Amino acid sequence: MAEKIVTISSSITVGELAETINLPVTQLIGELFKNGIVATINQRIDFETASIIVEELGLDFDLKQKEVDKSPATRNRVLSENATERSPIVAVMGHVDHGKTSLLDAILGQKVVEGEAGGITQHISAYQATKDGRTMTLLDTPGHEAFAALRQHGAVLTDVVIVVVAADDGVKPQTVEAIRFAREANAKIVVAINKIDKDTANSQLVKTQLATEHNLNPEEWGGDTIMVEVSAKTGQGIDKLLEAVLLVADLEELKADTDVPAEGLVIEAHMETGRGAVVRLLVEQGHLAPGQYLVAGTAYGRVRTLQDFSGKTIKSAGPSTPVIVTGFKDLPEFGNTFGIVKNEKEARQATVAARIEREAAAASTNVTSADILKLMSQAREAEVFNVIVKADVQGSLTSVIDSLKLVDTGGEVTLRVIGSGVGNISENDVHLAATEGTVIYGFNVDLPPAVKRQAARDGVQVRLYKVIYELLDDSKKSMEELLAPEIVDTEIGKLKIKGVFRTTKDEIIAGGEVTKGKVTTGVMTRVVRAGEKLAEVEVTKVQRQQIEAKEVFEGDLCGLSLKTEQKLLLEEGDILEFFTREVKKRTLK
Ligand code: GDP
Repeated sequence: MAEKIVTISSSITVGELAETINLPVTQLIGELFKNGIVATINQRIDFETASIIVEELGLDFDLKQKEVDKSPATRNRVLSENATERSPIVAVMGHVDHGKTSLLDAILGQKVVEGEAGGITQHISAYQATKDGRTMTLLDTPGHEAFAALRQHGAVLTDVVIVVVAADDGVKPQTVEAIRFAREANAKIVVAINKIDKDTANSQLVKTQLATEHNLNPEEWGGDTIMVEVSAKTGQGIDKLLEAVLLVADLEELKADTDVPAEGLVIEAHMETGRGAVVRLLVEQGHLAPGQYLVAGTAYGRVRTLQDFSGKTIKSAGPSTPVIVTGFKDLPEFGNTFGIVKNEKEARQATVAARIEREAAAASTNVTSADILKLMSQAREAEVFNVIVKADVQGSLTSVIDSLKLVDTGGEVTLRVIGSGVGNISENDVHLAATEGTVIYGFNVDLPPAVKRQAARDGVQVRLYKVIYELLDDSKKSMEELLAPEIVDTEIGKLKIKGVFRTTKDEIIAGGEVTKGKVTTGVMTRVVRAGEKLAEVEVTKVQRQQIEAKEVFEGDLCGLSLKTEQKLLLEEGDILEFFTREVKKRTLK
């Protein structure tokens, strides 16, 4: 008899499994019990257990594990024979102020990036440019944090990275980061040496830096990296740069399938009044068209409007095309992959599956009792910095949260995002934040006057930012304040007790010989007997030859007054180790 094949996730609840295989749940629980598994209806069992039970029951079902949606980075898509050439996806990256935005403007022949705060593009955008009838897709590099977040989501989709270096400034930290990003993403590098119109420009120096320190050797020196001198200001070299990008892309033989259901990546999503969810997608395979049902992570919808990057309505979009769609019922997440399904029912099922997958992934982290003990002790020691994050668009929200999580405190301060969302700060946020120490971060959003009053009344701190780095700096400072101060002891000397003259409840007067370093008034001392530390006390007075002295050095005899808190009986032969103690405020690396 032919078996019925059912596909399930990596784990399934007992109730869901019973429903899937048409078995009364009590019978399934009984069967599990026979196999030594005590489970309730809502408990999750893993795929292997489910398969064994179904087999034992002798049912006509064959369970198959659902393949987890792989991100493009790990998705080694096998292209069909019909795959055709596609245009390259190019990211423009480089150090702040080296001219990325100006270069994009020059390439696209228009002002594209408006309202940049502090010169840093905050969320990822995509454009298309043409050169000699050929198209390329340009990804506007957001603040590098957003790119890091995108990379974390596994969405390495760049074919070519244009590394912009200002000829008057040379290689800088974010230049190095851009090179590293390109290498990790397996993308080809084309260097644009910008601002060559300036008197202070020194392209040779840039090339030397890149060649000697970063292993990028210019073609004209016999290497294989194309470096083009450009000026975003005068337009000089822009054509040559685009030619270089196309040349490098040609060598890659970039291809995509066009006759498969569309798939690709969510690069930005936000809500707009009157339009609902406005989502930027990058189509990687197939053709996307209005009317199609889309699924991205836990969000789904039907393409209502389809526009190209400039907002022009289009009928369909093929591989390497950035588009703007409306029709999603809620916001997909930045970095989600999207796919096409047949109808609304399938779309809903797919999002349910995605949700279960997500929960299962969260639930399946194996925690041992040792881990729990460790976590508990950490929880006791570690301070917690609670935050609520609000941002203008989903993409920014994701990058802010991801970047916040990357602030490393060596496990001493835990940052906990207790709430987040897209939109202005609301009364609800303030309400939620009213627990001690919770800070609300607003990124590119407003704080309405009524909410501001409420926050002031409840003593809730709301901090608004337009630049991600500044927000991160602030969070770092706040976490530094929570760090336990560092206690630094500096050893200064040692003494051997030769006689104890008087011992009272809170003072000892004794004498001895300084055997190392020195002793001064006001320092601390450890009392050590037979290698064991007995106490820590303060030296309140030092005397040499019965005269009060500031310090007594190695080789000299001296008398000491020690201030004690508990009664301490010093003995001849005890060792005093003198040290100074500083309490230092700590900073994060
Ligand atoms: P980004 O931070 O990398 O996006 O840099 P911008 O495009 O915002 O440019 C930073 C500054 O450099 C701006 O003041 C630009 O006008 C200036 N700039 C950019 N490209 C050139 C160039 O080719 N020549 C000159 N002279 N200035 C430039």
